[in-house]
Amino acid sequence: MGSIMNILTVDVEDWYMTTDISRWGEFEDRVVASTEKVLSILGDIKATFFVLGYVAEQHPELISLIHEAGHELGTHGYSHKPIQLQTPIQFEEELLKSMKIIESITGTKVCGHRACQASVMKSTSWSIDIMKKCGIEYDSSVFPVKTPLYGVPDAPLYPYRISSNNICEDSEDGIYEFPLSVYKLPYKNVPIAGGFYLRLFPYWFTKNSIKRINKEVKPAVVYLHPWEIDVGQPKSLEFKRYHYYNLSSTEHKIKQLLKDFRFTSIKEWLQS
Ligand SMILES: [Zn+2]
Repeated sequence: MGSIMNILTVDVEDWYMTTDISRWGEFEDRVVASTEKVLSILGDIKATFFVLGYVAEQHPELISLIHEAGHELGTHGYSHKPIQLQTPIQFEEELLKSMKIIESITGTKVCGHRACQASVMKSTSWSIDIMKKCGIEYDSSVFPVKTPLYGVPDAPLYPYRISSNNICEDSEDGIYEFPLSVYKLPYKNVPIAGGFYLRLFPYWFTKNSIKRINKEVKPAVVYLHPWEIDVGQPKSLEFKRYHYYNLSSTEHKIKQLLKDFRFTSIKEWLQS
């Protein structure tokens, strides 16, 4: 096991929450069981759980369970809408609503934010000022990759302070940003450490990529969705194939990561 402390994050949302919130009543709820499974896999290892306000409202007992297990709770917004599809007023309302719901359950201030679909980008940098205004101390939404949907290809690869003026440079008056980890190639960055990419790549590639990051004395930022270890979730044709790709590999890969590397929550990482 390496000596560098890495960061482990869990986006607490159900398997169908890429659809619009108006349809969420149509699907089978599985988030409680899948998140409980994540908790049991983690054991004593601490993580930051970015919870959707909607999930916290529906399942307050799950939020208490995560909190009582000693993990940090952050917000993943309320309705899982990417920032580019929200107005600044909607973004602020959703952010405050989700923070209030989570804080009322745990009695602890929410300091961290992760946007849906890595949607903190150049076009949505105004959201950083709103986060700051609402008391958010750090964000973990920037993905230093180039994709048609999201990404900030020239963003720093490791924790820095982000501001709305220039989201690609460290700024003294910014809030902390924890970009999602990538493997740097000469002409592009490859996402490595979470979600679909964790399922896609063989474990040795993920392991070597994190080792390379740790060699630079930097932490990897790994993310996971509880539904990604839920192999029994309903198969629906309306979800893209990659949603289901290699789901059966996730649990083993996460367990192996926890054996091979040290992990903690963002809050504890900042305090260390
Ligand atoms: Zn999400």
